[in-house]
This record gives sequence, C-alpha cells and structure tokens, in this order.
Amino acid sequence: MNGNLLTIEHLTKRYGQVAALDDVSFAVQKGERFGVVGESGSGKTTLLRCILGITISDEGRVSLENKDITGVPVEHRGIGYVPQDFGLFPHLSVSENIAFGLRIQKISLQETRSRVETLLKAMQLSEELMSRKPRELSGGQQQRVALARALAVSPKLLLLDEPLSNLDEATKDEVLPYLRTLSDRFGTTAMFVIHTIQDALDLCDRIGVFHRGRLLQVATPHELVGKPTTPQVSRLLAGIRQNHTHSS
Ligand code: ADP
Ligand code: MG
Repeated sequence: MNGNLLTIEHLTKRYGQVAALDDVSFAVQKGERFGVVGESGSGKTTLLRCILGITISDEGRVSLENKDITGVPVEHRGIGYVPQDFGLFPHLSVSENIAFGLRIQKISLQETRSRVETLLKAMQLSEELMSRKPRELSGGQQQRVALARALAVSPKLLLLDEPLSNLDEATKDEVLPYLRTLSDRFGTTAMFVIHTIQDALDLCDRIGVFHRGRLLQVATPHELVGKPTTPQVSRLLAGIRQNHTHSS
C-alpha cells in the first residue's frame, strides 16, 4: 500500500534528436498539489500529454492507483486536462462546454443539468453567463469555465498546463483560490505546470524541476529554496532567494 495516486517510471519521449522526456520517474500522492517547473522546452507539456495519453511515450510506464494505464485510451483514464489556451470550444456556450464530457459519457440530461449548475455555482459563474460563448468572457471567467469543464467528469487527477500564464495579476488572484482548494472541494489531485517559480512555491505542496527533459529535483518549496541540488535549480531560484534575503 502507498498513498501514491500517480506513478511515473522511466518515461522517455524523443522527437528526432531531442529527448523531450528523458528517463523521468516520480510519484504524486493523493490530494497533493504537485508543481512542474522548468524553462521553456524542458518537457513540461510533453509530460502532461503523456500522462493524459494524447502523446504516446517511447519508453516507460504511467500508473494510476497502482494500475498500469500506459496503453489505456485517453477517455478511459479518468484524468482531467486544462490546456494552456483553456481549449474551450468557441462555438459552444458556457454550459455546453461544461457539459461536453458528460454528453460523451452519456450521462442523463437531468444529471448533466444538475452537475453543470453545481459547477457554475462552485466556480462563482453567474447564471447569466451560461449561454455566452467563450469569447464573451474575461480571462478569469474562461479559466474557471475550463476548470469546471475538466471537473465535470469527476477526474481523480487534474492536469493544468500553465493555468496562470495567460492571466494578469488581478485575475491570477481571482483564480488561485480555486486552484488551492481543488482537492478539498472536488477530491481531485492536481498537477500544475507553472511558469513562474514564485507561483509554484506559493501554490504547490511539492515541486518537480525539469531541465532538457530530465527531472532534476523533487522537493517541497521549503526544501527547494533551502537545498537546491543542482546549479540549474539554484539558478532558477536565484531571483527568489534574493527577494527572500531583501525582505528579511
Ligand atoms: P515545455 O512545455 O516545457 O515548454 P515541451 O514539452 O512543449 O516543453 O517541449 C519539449 C521539447 O520537445 C522541445 O524541444 C520541443 O520543441 C519538443 N517537442 C514538443 N512537442 C513536439 C512535437 N510534436 N514535435 C517535435 N518536437 C516537439
Ligand atoms: Mg509547455
């Protein structure tokens, strides 16, 4: 027995000469907020896509609750995904977007209506937004609709690719509480790709640092700041450590 929800073993994905993922192994515990950081091109999106199953790895294994899901099709993995651009369907209304996964699962109309309503409330999206198209929403509202859509099918694991990158500071503050309470409110373990190291330190229980497809270190924010194990991790944290020194 262990408390791991997700286990990644020796995951490798190459594109020609480039190893987007290079022998990556780690585990995410149930209920954890796990952050994935690293410079652009370090393999963060490829990692999420391999876990989700829309990118097929060359080697390695992905397990959910100790069950090997490496060969399981996307729709049977029970994993939610919020891509970086939110991936909302532009021609569908807010409520149709949220209901999308439920339709595919052939959930009854009544049950679908009730779940959409619950999620709208949970994300504090007012009823008047239900019939709007995504382009008629603010960035923060779009992000919350994307979250609601991913949560509609009650995923065990939710993968979010740079959920804060397209948002200005005020909108970020609007969205962060929803990201913080995913496990408590929806029972979902969450893995976030985060562009800004400070945001990762603020939001996540543990953080994995990637560099050129390799996982350099997995640590709590405290450990990471206190004991970076490689020069690359130190460099990533340099600005932060300076800020900490200045403010103390
Ligand atoms: P990140 O999300 O950290 O910016 P990615 O996972 O998108 O990084 O990309 C990792 C590496 O793999 C990069 O060098 C990128 O150019 C390459 N890569 C990603 N997807 C593809 C693809 N479909 N075809 C070719 N190369 C790709
Ligand atoms: Mg990316």
